[in-house]
Amino acid sequence: MKVKIALAGNPNSGKTTLFNALTGSNQFVGNWPGVTVEKKEGRLKGHSDKADEAVLVDLPGIYSLSPYTLEEVVSRNFLIGERPDAVINIIDGTNLERNLYLTTQLTELGIPVIVAINMMDLVRKNGEMLNVERLSKDIGCKVVEISALKGEGIEQLAERAVALARSGKKTVPAHSFDGCVEHAIAHIEEAISGHVDKSMERWYAIKLFERDAKVQESLKLDAELLAHIEEDIVSCEQEMDDDSESIITGERYNYIGSMIEDCYTKRVRQQMSVSDKIDRVVTNRFLALPIFAVVMYIVYYVSVTTVGAFLTDWTNDTLFGEWILPGAQSALEQIGCSDWMVGLLVDGIVSGVGAVLGFVPQMLVLFAFLAFLESCGYMARIAFIMDRIFRKFGLSGKSFIPMLIGTGCGVPGIMASRTIENDRDRKMTIMTTTFIPCGAKLPIIALIAGALFDGAPWVAPSAYFVGIAAIICSGIMLKKTKLFAGDPAPFVMELPAYHMPTVENVLRSMWERGWSFIKKAGTIILVSTIFVWFAQSFGIEDGSFCMVEDMNNSILAGIGSAVAWIFTPLGWGDWKAAVAAITGLVAKENVVGTFGILYGFGEVAEDGAEVWGSLAGSMSAVAAYSFLVFNLLCAPCFAAMGAIMREMNNIRWFWYAIGYQTGLAYVVSLCIYQVGTLLTAGTFGIGTIAAFVLIACFIYLLVRPHKESQDLTVVRSVQGKLSA
Ligand code: GDP
Ligand code: MG
Repeated sequence: MKVKIALAGNPNSGKTTLFNALTGSNQFVGNWPGVTVEKKEGRLKGHSDKADEAVLVDLPGIYSLSPYTLEEVVSRNFLIGERPDAVINIIDGTNLERNLYLTTQLTELGIPVIVAINMMDLVRKNGEMLNVERLSKDIGCKVVEISALKGEGIEQLAERAVALARSGKKTVPAHSFDGCVEHAIAHIEEAISGHVDKSMERWYAIKLFERDAKVQESLKLDAELLAHIEEDIVSCEQEMDDDSESIITGERYNYIGSMIEDCYTKRVRQQMSVSDKIDRVVTNRFLALPIFAVVMYIVYYVSVTTVGAFLTDWTNDTLFGEWILPGAQSALEQIGCSDWMVGLLVDGIVSGVGAVLGFVPQMLVLFAFLAFLESCGYMARIAFIMDRIFRKFGLSGKSFIPMLIGTGCGVPGIMASRTIENDRDRKMTIMTTTFIPCGAKLPIIALIAGALFDGAPWVAPSAYFVGIAAIICSGIMLKKTKLFAGDPAPFVMELPAYHMPTVENVLRSMWERGWSFIKKAGTIILVSTIFVWFAQSFGIEDGSFCMVEDMNNSILAGIGSAVAWIFTPLGWGDWKAAVAAITGLVAKENVVGTFGILYGFGEVAEDGAEVWGSLAGSMSAVAAYSFLVFNLLCAPCFAAMGAIMREMNNIRWFWYAIGYQTGLAYVVSLCIYQVGTLLTAGTFGIGTIAAFVLIACFIYLLVRPHKESQDLTVVRSVQGKLSA
């Protein structure tokens, strides 16, 4: 018999780690909520034959079965709609109280449930003890202890879950609510009997008691029945003097409290754990930001300037410049390839794709750092620290998580915005997430830094801070518009204990991100490269269409020149730069690839010139920085635009987002170039005046007063370790 087992639990409880261990899959494991936004399926190891197939479904992390976030909706619809044969409820053993809240709801679903208490390695290390037998009795289902990370107890868990799924023995919650609540629920159950599956009556009754709008809607009960139910609810509310939803929540917490008292023993002496000590410093009100800046500086410094640059230089100059390019050239000439063919292969594909691939080592170094920071737990702290700051500007700290993910790639970053409950916050986050330099923008940064700033170490981190500044300023400006007014939702996120990530995990995550970059180079970048090469090699010369001698006569030059004037005020009205920025809309890696073809990186090896020399000759440093900033902030690549479209799910909002991003990029780059040239070269003109007017408008939009409640929202960490 084929069985389907769902894996449900709070964010960060170790679901994905367990899923990977049990299915041999390689899903991404991150130390913050929102990494798994879509459910994933895999076959249990040892249960892959048709006869006893068992499928495990990794659901998004949720705190409850209320429909407040998209993840909750995804998980809940799955559990109710598809009725898995069993649910493994994975619980973070170091955080029982909060995790058990979901458990109390899962057991009501009328599905066989088995509870797996994870992170037992940490629980034991903290000197805490759990009485599993008692807990099992209190909850009403089997409870097992595991460590997903260390692989302890997971096989037994899987076997038990499969057996449970096969037996079909539905879990009956051991807990009952207060007499009057149970009374109302019983009435409601009676009223909806026949409308829903027998085994789910209790769950539906409780949800109706809570006046869950989605459930009310889905059941399509007639008005009379609803009114009847409402009577039951109101009479209970009067008796308990509270609203029905709070009554249920309150009762659940009382129940959890009694369970914990029953089965959990804390160590006697409350010492400060190492994590707490580190947090004292790292999340300190004054030190947090400087520490973050230093950490980011080191990360970018090492990956872009030192180790990464060394490897990338070697790949570009030696591997491609001295070996592959001349090698390919002479090999092709020897076998007698025609000129245009050699041109396409060497000057087009190898130069274009090679220019992109050259950055792979640099990116891998960066990704390894980010993976380390993620899985050791520091990134979660950053979200917490940033929340304190973001909140002042009307953004939620939760917006920072998509941005962190966006440092790798904007697409999952945009998707991670699903963790944000508030719709306006979410839209704002989708609009601003791609301001953060993603992995594909890194080569552009490295190119500009290398070509025009002599590899100055401040360029790369500055790109990062320009991104953050753009987000914060956007937050301030947009929040004052009607579209986005309102307070950000309170931020609740747990801070996992620090731990040393496994080398395997860091390498896997580094490779996953790096590989998708390489894959792109082999597909979309390759196609774009061929197009760019074709368009720059052919054109009209002496009145006929042919392979052009002078690139300025090419089709590409024609296209570029037609739009280049738009960018003249930004300092890079050269058609080549315009073309590069446009190909960047397909994929940001193309910017570098296009330069690679247009400035003939292929010839580097022969004349021995500095790779980036020709680019340096065509722009001033100020113009190059303006070019960099434009490419950082403007509309992202096709893939990310697609993600924006999907997540906004509304064509008007999509164009708002793209328009806003590109508009902001234009204005900021213009100001940088105009003010920059005024300061460096003393040039003053109409552009300078325009820049000052724009800056004035910008400042006005930032500081203009607006009426908005100035409520102090208290940020709390669930563990209560830190308070803002
Ligand atoms: P998910 O959000 O529920 O999918 O959780 P993940 O699988 O992404 O895990 C969150 C973090 O907890 C990761 O850093 C894991 O390495 C860590 N983790 C998972 N299971 C264990 C465990 O049993 N012990 C310890 N110490 N850490 C774990
Ligand atoms: Mg996960």
